[in-house]
Amino acid sequence: MEISVKDIEKVILVNTVTLSHNKPHSINVEFYRCYRCGTGITQIQGRIVAISAGYIPSEDVPTITRCYVCSKDGIETNYTFQTQDTKIGPIKLTLAAADRVSTFHCIFCRSPLVQYTKDEAVILPEFEKIVIPHMLPCVRCKAKYMLMDIVEPVL
Ligand SMILES: [Zn+2]
Ligand SMILES: [Zn+2]
Repeated sequence: MEISVKDIEKVILVNTVTLSHNKPHSINVEFYRCYRCGTGITQIQGRIVAISAGYIPSEDVPTITRCYVCSKDGIETNYTFQTQDTKIGPIKLTLAAADRVSTFHCIFCRSPLVQYTKDEAVILPEFEKIVIPHMLPCVRCKAKYMLMDIVEPVL
């Protein structure tokens, strides 16, 4: 998508994070962490059901949150959050490949779970090659992920 950042037109990479609606009266605020670097970047409400590379259009006006740590490191990693009525299950991942090896960190406990390029993915810490789609449980915090795809951003 093309947006204006500080008056400079540029193409940025966005990940769409889909959240389920909160149950009435339940307090369910969490800190969302960047999956590339583990930096906490914003507070979210609701359960995360999917993280997808690219911008998925919705009725919500998109707000883009940028990971400043990734940005300093030369990878623009941005997130937009949208809420949907969806069944809760493993968090579905469609990860964006970069021009170097990327690591997906558990967004809750920051454990590195998978290392990937656009061509292949290995599970950590074993470095065993996996075939996608692949279930990706976090051993440390028991979060459940389903790696659906790895995509190359089109610029
Ligand atoms: Zn980051
Ligand atoms: Zn975890």
